[in-house]
Amino acid sequence: MTPITTHLIEVAYLVATALFILALKWLSAPSTARRGVWAGELGMVLAIGGTLLHHGIVDYRWIAIGLVLGSIIGVPLGLVHMTAVPQRTALSHACGALCVTLVGTAEFYLRAPNVPRFMMAVLSLEVILGSLTFTGSLMATGKLQEILPQRPITYKGQNFVNLSLLGISILVAIYIVLNPAHKALFPLMIGIPLVFGVMMIVPIGGADMPTVISLLNSYAGLSAAAMGFVLDSKLLIIAGALDGSSGFILSVIMSKAMNRSFSNVLFGAFGQVQATAAATQEARPVHSATAEEAATILAAANTVVIVPGYGMAVAQAQHKVRELYDALTKRGVDVKFGIHPVAGRMPGHMNVLLAEADIPYDRLLDMDAINGDFPQTDVALIIGANDVTNPAARTDQSSPIYGMPILDVDKARTVMVIKRSMNPGFAGIDNPLYYLDKTLMLFGDAKGFVGDILRELTGGHA
Ligand code: NDP
Repeated sequence: MTPITTHLIEVAYLVATALFILALKWLSAPSTARRGVWAGELGMVLAIGGTLLHHGIVDYRWIAIGLVLGSIIGVPLGLVHMTAVPQRTALSHACGALCVTLVGTAEFYLRAPNVPRFMMAVLSLEVILGSLTFTGSLMATGKLQEILPQRPITYKGQNFVNLSLLGISILVAIYIVLNPAHKALFPLMIGIPLVFGVMMIVPIGGADMPTVISLLNSYAGLSAAAMGFVLDSKLLIIAGALDGSSGFILSVIMSKAMNRSFSNVLFGAFGQVQATAAATQEARPVHSATAEEAATILAAANTVVIVPGYGMAVAQAQHKVRELYDALTKRGVDVKFGIHPVAGRMPGHMNVLLAEADIPYDRLLDMDAINGDFPQTDVALIIGANDVTNPAARTDQSSPIYGMPILDVDKARTVMVIKRSMNPGFAGIDNPLYYLDKTLMLFGDAKGFVGDILRELTGGHA
């Protein structure tokens, strides 16, 4: 390899590293998020380009086959509907983790028995994390895609079984670090964590899945960083560490938003969330209203807070919601949006959709920023949100979501809820908000109902 090529690779890696850091920084605010995505993509192109120039590559044919195969899998994955992004992300983690495990395995068999202790230690970390992330991510995908049952499956001694599996793989790893010549034990370091990955997800209910996905993201990043040590790639170490730490930070934020203790998440034993199915609900009376009545109330309001949720995403109602925002603002109504951190099915889901509809960013307020406004709000208009507005989380100690911070919509003077039926949301539980005297249920599809309200507001011109 010529000195120029060496410098080119170094410069490509350096710029890629800077771009990855900038991408994370920019991704943390809706106004700069698009730039963040571009920076991340450019960084990845530079990282791959630099790697392809590496002297270690003797033949490009296998790489070309990998590129074609990867594109065949990757392009359709990138085209999934927005609501399927969490499971799509979990599937990406599974692919990354499988790759890390395979590379680690190849490196071990190429080098054994002459593997220095430090190298063997990081290699063990790499394959253990890679294997458990692989099956854990596949399980998470299955649960979110509803191929597997979403409800938690628990049994006596589950924590013991899970921790024992993890403990045995760590013991095997320690033994191999000290005796790398015992190649026969290496498959155990892959097999046991593969089983652990499945067992780790089994007791976790659907409502806790967002935290799990970001935690798996963190595991995938850490295993990639470990692979960086094995392959002596600074870029992989940095990119993996960024991925690992940002995934970890996101998991902590998500755990707080869902009121799950983080140690529970780490040990994969938070399986006590029980879906109390809709079937257990008694038929209690609710007040419902028509689009015409809703339009009259909205037109008379001074302050409106719109709370979007998963139903708005499913109905793709964000553009109609934008038109409603415009129509109300034109009438002098002060309209804001209250965004819960886990509204929808992925972190930032609502921000992405509302940004797509060009709602001004300064109108989107996080839960903590908007909650103080509800007592002075004339109308809280909930569009396809349910769990994130459930007051049982504040008051009912027996509720599976007890303690989860929610949007205090019940403190507004009038509450209006657009949803199609009395069916529960993701957590599978009833919402006492719907039975309050101040609550009006607007039964219908989010896009259709918002369109109807608009027509009433604009005299049929929407
Ligand atoms: P929910 O899942 O609690 O409720 C969504 C509501 O939307 C349902 O009650 C449904 O009622 C309604 N709905 C569905 N389709 C339509 C439609 N076409 N038009 C109108 N309404 C519709 O959503 P939230 O956003 O309130 O809460 C998110 C939940 O998802 C939380 O439990 C969270 O923990 C979980 N979660 C969050 C993730 C994240 O990262 N954001 C990831 C994975 C899970 P109906 O059927 O009657 O219309």
